[in-house]
Amino acid sequence: MSNFTPPSFFGHGSPMNAIEFNEYTDKWRSYGASLPTPRAILSISAHWFINATAVTVMDSPRTIHDFYGFPKPLFDFEYGASGSREVAELVIDTVKPTWIGADEDQWGLDHGTWSVLTHIFPAADIPVVQLSIDATKDLKYHYDLGRKLASLAYQGVMIFGSGNIVHNLGSMDWSNPSGGFSWAEDFDKRSRDIIESNPSSVVDLVNDANFALASPTPDHFLPFVYFAGIADELKRNVVNVVEGCSFGSISMASYAVEA
Ligand code: ZN
Repeated sequence: MSNFTPPSFFGHGSPMNAIEFNEYTDKWRSYGASLPTPRAILSISAHWFINATAVTVMDSPRTIHDFYGFPKPLFDFEYGASGSREVAELVIDTVKPTWIGADEDQWGLDHGTWSVLTHIFPAADIPVVQLSIDATKDLKYHYDLGRKLASLAYQGVMIFGSGNIVHNLGSMDWSNPSGGFSWAEDFDKRSRDIIESNPSSVVDLVNDANFALASPTPDHFLPFVYFAGIADELKRNVVNVVEGCSFGSISMASYAVEA
């Protein structure tokens, strides 16, 4: 129990958060400063959404700039964390007989991972492995896989989900950088009630009247589903780290299992 490393879920928002300092990155930094140093990080990012579950095993995962139209300093950004084949193999073994593939050379660290981690662990001195999200599977698969991964929290591996509970790029309101539409705030609040009181009900959020608006594609919601499975399995309190929406239709809500 002494080696417990609290899992967390972060709303990452714009890739620009990587190189900015604002109300969100301030909170990410204070959260990071409060943590014991983990042995490694397992990142579950919305931005590696493919037709299989895989984990990066390379020693030096590349920094992937998976976006367009941002300023050059963001494309020049590098997060220099190493990988860890040993931790990747631990991840693969932990969930057996569920299959996770070993990614030798396809992916690396995408901005869902590094835009937040560069604030939580600015020194980039903790190995990071990234897990892909299988786009062909249903919610229950992701929830159950989260439950299976939960025991890593007792082995010094910080499980870190990065997405956005509300993520509707088509509905963004550029005149409202630090607020949300009422439907977005409502969905955010219901998500908070559930994750703090009964994480297993997160899978029921798909039946919420606002789900289709909040999550027009599932990629950014699914890291939160993993986190719910992990929190349920660990049977520990969940605390809010960041709250609120930005640009109308992006929730920045972030949560962590209590240390
Ligand atoms: Zn994103």
